[in-house]
Amino acid sequence: MSSLPPAPSLLAPDEPPAFEVVNPDGRSSAVLLCDHASNVVPRRLARLGLYGDELSQHIGWDIGAARLSRRLSTLLDAPLVLSGYSRLVIDCNRPPGSPTSIPQISGGVPIPGNAIDAAEAEARADACFWPYHRAAAALLDARRERGKSTAVLCVHSFTPSLLGEDRPWHVAVLYGRDRRLAGPFLEALRREPVLCVGDNQPYYVTDGGDYSIPVHGEARGLPCVLLEIRQDGLIRDEDVEAWAQRLARIYREIEAALLPGAGGA
Ligand SMILES: [Zn+2]
Repeated sequence: MSSLPPAPSLLAPDEPPAFEVVNPDGRSSAVLLCDHASNVVPRRLARLGLYGDELSQHIGWDIGAARLSRRLSTLLDAPLVLSGYSRLVIDCNRPPGSPTSIPQISGGVPIPGNAIDAAEAEARADACFWPYHRAAAALLDARRERGKSTAVLCVHSFTPSLLGEDRPWHVAVLYGRDRRLAGPFLEALRREPVLCVGDNQPYYVTDGGDYSIPVHGEARGLPCVLLEIRQDGLIRDEDVEAWAQRLARIYREIEAALLPGAGGA
């Protein structure tokens, strides 16, 4: 009896990598993470059985978040790590094995391709989750070795309406144990009269429901915050630019007080 052939890798050699690192040597104290940057699904997963436009909607990715992150990376001269695959393949901001890591229903939409066993879930984590987080960890390790001041900013976007409920916030500042960045971000954003600002709304950060803030920020003792922009504010290029300019300006103000001498660019 011959042994079984090796299981085919989830990602074919010509498919995109699980992560992208932009400007790794950026001089800013900010390190940007974009957990939900992409809506790509590995070919072998056959669109997860979704044949409408679901993958281009908010359940597939954070609309506009990658564009905003890239612009912010340029304005701040900050390193940025982006995930390469859809959150519906495996969510890069959920602990693997947690109930929403590989959701069978998302935003009310059934995901047929996500009725899978533990081995398949592990294969997705190995292909799409761990490489992204290893890249983020390596970047943060390298900065620690160089003694570089660092704060972690996770950039997300949220849908204006979920399951029939409208969200009034234009921007949300989310945090867990560490308010060193969140507090000043809330203060600065609230000074802008046109903005409705969510304070840990519509979500908040938890160890069970989040990964990047607890692991890359809190566990390392780094100031960290999760910023969410409502997606209708990230459709037009000029709106993305306005958000990037605003967040970069606010971060520089905060940085000067929080991490004296850390100013990079
Ligand atoms: Zn997100």
